[in-house]
Amino acid sequence: MALYYRSTRSDDVRVTASQAILKGLADDGGLYVPENIPAFDVSLEELSGMDYRQVAYEVMKLFLTDFTEEELKNCIDNAYDSKFDTDEIAPLVKADGAYYLELFHGATIAFKDMALSILPHLMITSARKNNIKNDIVILTATSGDTGKAALAGFADVEGTSIIVFYPKNGVSPIQERQMVTQKGKNTYVVGIHGNFDDAQTGVKNMFGDKELNAELDAAGYQFSSANSINIGRLVPQIVYYVYAYTRLLGSGEIAAGEKINVVVPTGNFGNILAAYFAKNMGLPVNKLICASNENKVLYDFFSTGTYDRNREFVLTSSPSMDILISSNLERLIYIIAGADAKANSEFMDSLKTEGRYTITPQMRAKLDDFYGNYSSEEETARVIKSLYESTGYVIDTHTAVAAGVYKKYVSDTGDNLKTVIASTASPFKFSRSVMDAIDKSRYDSMSDFELVDELAAIANVKVPQAIEDIRTAPVLHDTVCDKTEMKATVKKILNIN
Ligand SMILES: *Cc1c(COP(=O)(O)O)cnc(C)c1O
Repeated sequence: MALYYRSTRSDDVRVTASQAILKGLADDGGLYVPENIPAFDVSLEELSGMDYRQVAYEVMKLFLTDFTEEELKNCIDNAYDSKFDTDEIAPLVKADGAYYLELFHGATIAFKDMALSILPHLMITSARKNNIKNDIVILTATSGDTGKAALAGFADVEGTSIIVFYPKNGVSPIQERQMVTQKGKNTYVVGIHGNFDDAQTGVKNMFGDKELNAELDAAGYQFSSANSINIGRLVPQIVYYVYAYTRLLGSGEIAAGEKINVVVPTGNFGNILAAYFAKNMGLPVNKLICASNENKVLYDFFSTGTYDRNREFVLTSSPSMDILISSNLERLIYIIAGADAKANSEFMDSLKTEGRYTITPQMRAKLDDFYGNYSSEEETARVIKSLYESTGYVIDTHTAVAAGVYKKYVSDTGDNLKTVIASTASPFKFSRSVMDAIDKSRYDSMSDFELVDELAAIANVKVPQAIEDIRTAPVLHDTVCDKTEMKATVKKILNIN
């Protein structure tokens, strides 16, 4: 059955999946949501006998109904291959009574790889399906991590190029090194003299520049974005929740129909929204546990019904969750408002002008699926240390925020259902914070690479390839421009005069 996508901001938008992937954001500024959430058409028992790629197909085909079987299987095979360092793609590891779903076995050792390794293939397939002959040029501004994950995903994908702008003095040395060593004949990395906002504004201006877009079109190109609100990033994230459940089922850890809890360390609300979709497809999930760090805007939202971004922004040791506007939450707001685009638009207007909104009691009643809480910096560090000391298993700071919140959930509710914790980054990606948590006095004086080796030794795991690459890979990108020259730089890269 064909599934169409609506905008969260007006009623007159109705597009296919491939159109939604190509556009990213609707013209009215809204996010695309499926008209309904499809149910599984194979049993969970059958899924438990399938590998990651097969599960991915069974889930994604229900959402991307205008892709042929061959097209979708091609995208999946090109994404979930040897770029991942394990055949399982997303292994489950049991420690201290919970199941850690390791989403960090891809090219940049963090969970963004799960979606960004398939998005380029979904995008180019969508372009061809819609008779778009132009090559796709991905423009991205990054403050560090997403840029690298997008570069790795798009590298050498036929019919695409990617240009990433970053603030030359505004990312960590490791993040910069990860980007400037990126291979691929279609990848471009540009440092700008300016901050992240300058980079972001420059990119936004180019997306909206009619003249530039016409020049691109004449040269056989068009811009697109790899933004986290793209439905082509959301749908692949549903897969691993289904995969995790069916692994537990397949190994006899749970019985058929048994409910589990899912804990997700949350920033932009994309990952946990995918879990919500999985639940609504029929996956037996009890609570969706939304874990925040000290930027606890979502915890406050779940406990009061008011979303309020007017607060101090805190820099934490889980930087990918340092977010005050969780853009994907808009999809949930739209859904619990009863697919009411007008009501949702009013909330979003209020967020824009006042920085806050309050949902209705009827809407709040529909948030029963969720439990929200947060971990302080101190609690996060303590969780890393105690899990390591009791089990030998080392988790990163983001995952530790989730593990800390899970402890609070259990003590608040006494609920002891089996629980999957989304493990969103390799501890090697945040080795300084992780090792500080374990024993600051001992590791404080070590260099970053000494820490990496020490972490490998104490956790008894191999240093991931992504980290080895930073040590040894040659610098391939050295373009730097002023923030006023971003457009000229893009034209030069694309050979447009
Ligand atoms: C992006 C990210 C998150 C937050 O995910 P959202 O989908 O934005 O909620 C959590 N942990 C890590 C390591 C991330 O990179």
